[in-house]
Amino acid sequence: MSSPWSKVSAEPVQTANLADIMSEQYAHRLHDKELKEQQLRQEKQMQPVATPTATPSYSNVAETSASASSSDAGAWEDYSMLLNLEEGQQQKEQLPGDILKLLQDEAESDAVIARMLQSQFDHEYNEELRRIERQQNKQSKVTVTLNKYLRSGDAEFLHDTEADEDYEEDELAHRKHDWDRFETNEKMLDAIPKCGFKLDKEGEMITKHDPQLCGVRNAQRVMSFPPEFPTGDGACFDMKLSNKVFNQLKAYSRRGRADRKEKVATAEMGVDAATRLLLYKLINNQILEQINGIISTGKEAVILHANSDASYTGTNEHGHGNGVLMPAELLPKECAIKVFKTTLNEFKQRDRYIKDDYRFKDRFSKQNHRVIINMWAEKEMHNLMRMQSIGLNVPDVVVLKKHVLVMRFIGDNHNAAPKLKDARLNAAELSCAYEEIVAAMHKLYNEAKLVHADLSEYNILWYEGKCWFIDVAQSVEPEHPSGLEFLMRDCANIVQFFERRGLPNIYTKEQLFEFITALNAETHNAAMLERIHTRGASISQATVPNQLECPDELKPLEYPFELAWEKSQQDREAAAALRQLELSEDEAEQEQADEQLEHVEEAKRKLNNDNKNKNTAKCVQ
Ligand code: ADP
Ligand code: MG
Repeated sequence: MSSPWSKVSAEPVQTANLADIMSEQYAHRLHDKELKEQQLRQEKQMQPVATPTATPSYSNVAETSASASSSDAGAWEDYSMLLNLEEGQQQKEQLPGDILKLLQDEAESDAVIARMLQSQFDHEYNEELRRIERQQNKQSKVTVTLNKYLRSGDAEFLHDTEADEDYEEDELAHRKHDWDRFETNEKMLDAIPKCGFKLDKEGEMITKHDPQLCGVRNAQRVMSFPPEFPTGDGACFDMKLSNKVFNQLKAYSRRGRADRKEKVATAEMGVDAATRLLLYKLINNQILEQINGIISTGKEAVILHANSDASYTGTNEHGHGNGVLMPAELLPKECAIKVFKTTLNEFKQRDRYIKDDYRFKDRFSKQNHRVIINMWAEKEMHNLMRMQSIGLNVPDVVVLKKHVLVMRFIGDNHNAAPKLKDARLNAAELSCAYEEIVAAMHKLYNEAKLVHADLSEYNILWYEGKCWFIDVAQSVEPEHPSGLEFLMRDCANIVQFFERRGLPNIYTKEQLFEFITALNAETHNAAMLERIHTRGASISQATVPNQLECPDELKPLEYPFELAWEKSQQDREAAAALRQLELSEDEAEQEQADEQLEHVEEAKRKLNNDNKNKNTAKCVQ
């Protein structure tokens, strides 16, 4: 073997002048010479290669490929060069016919091997799919096919019988059928007239409830579930779903939707897309200038901080104030936006506050969730306004848009006033706060005719040395069936807070209740529990939402005040009876003696009369 590092033997270089080089004839001569040299080289190299058969069978193609692989690697390189390169292509055109044929045959045999192998692979792959399909479907009523994934390789190599051709045709038809199935099914259903049935060609009756048709339609409908709900691609599935299965899937997909909505709702500033739109509108209408961020995210609401728009004039281009409840000059600089959560998980616990509130009674039934949430916001607005009208410290309402309530921000410079539970109060302030709350509760009940129903140190803010009451969506009137129960709970919360803070000389919860309502707390409790204890009603019976369904004897008392009235009447009668008993014994005896005397006198008079009558009778005889 010669070393690559050895000195290269220098061949004599032919010299030519520029005119020669430029000459076309000279160029042709050189080209021909080069081709001849190449041809000779080819002939020498091709001699040991066996001549391939014109139409190779699978076995001898394999042999050919084996022998070819063992032949000189240089020859293969040349083939590829000849077949693939443009340069080679030009040269190929100039090759003698027999060499060209030889090359083409070789290339063909190579392609044949590749196609056969591919075909073999496809066949085995399809067999495997069929096997999986059979295994998965087994006895199941809902079957799936994997036709969509079948490979349509070169069947000619493996299936050359008539049966195989049929198989191919079937396969194609089957696939086409799958694609068209939904459409055909839909047409058939549409073709059923209003009477609900139709006769087919064989005279069989097809109704619109036909399980076959409905099954396919249900399968089709599953495809239009939300994209996040994975249903697979049913276009090639021979899927039929019974109504029962479909309805369950639908219910399941909806359940998912609620979760998804909740996720979306908490994604951006804790509000969903619909709410964001409302907020943008408030900005667009020049009520708000910007929304700065979240103050609080509670179970039921998200509170945002916003700046009002200084350019707000009270009217917009349409000439009205966009629902703003105050003149432009009173619009607070800083606003709190209460966005009621539109998911109902929390709402369910609160519905007892609204469904029994007669103000919302007619509107409560048969409403969808969003409308009910809007009613909550409306209820908060009404309650705030009512409380403000009697002079209680509550945030002024700016505007209400569906479930978004804009009100005055209690605090300064983006700093919300602390809740009572977090406020640092000295003894005097604590006492002041107590007095203020007790007075406010009394006023709320007696003048505004409201019970807060969620009053505690969490829903009272401490600002500028005063208590401010918030979160009044659940407040109810005392007539509400549970109104007094809620009031008692409020009393308990307040008393407990001040007790824990060590404020002396405060009411007990019963005393506070009595101070507010002038009702004896025990009497009231009797009223609340009467149905359960005295009349033997179960709690579920006594609190049945539709009281009309309640048996008469268990119906709630119309109004607890009536009970108090009844009770006081009874008390008065009892007192009168007692007074009677307390009369002095002497008086009683005297009376008794007089009575007895009277009886004696009476008896005497009777006796005299009788004697007189007897004497007269004797005289007559
Ligand atoms: P939730 O129903 O979530 O309890 P609230 O109305 O009680 O809703 O508000 C939650 C919190 O948001 C309050 O505790 C308070 O800190 C703050 N907040 C609510 N309204 C205002 C307001 N007008 N100004 C300042 N802060 C407020
Ligand atoms: Mg609250």
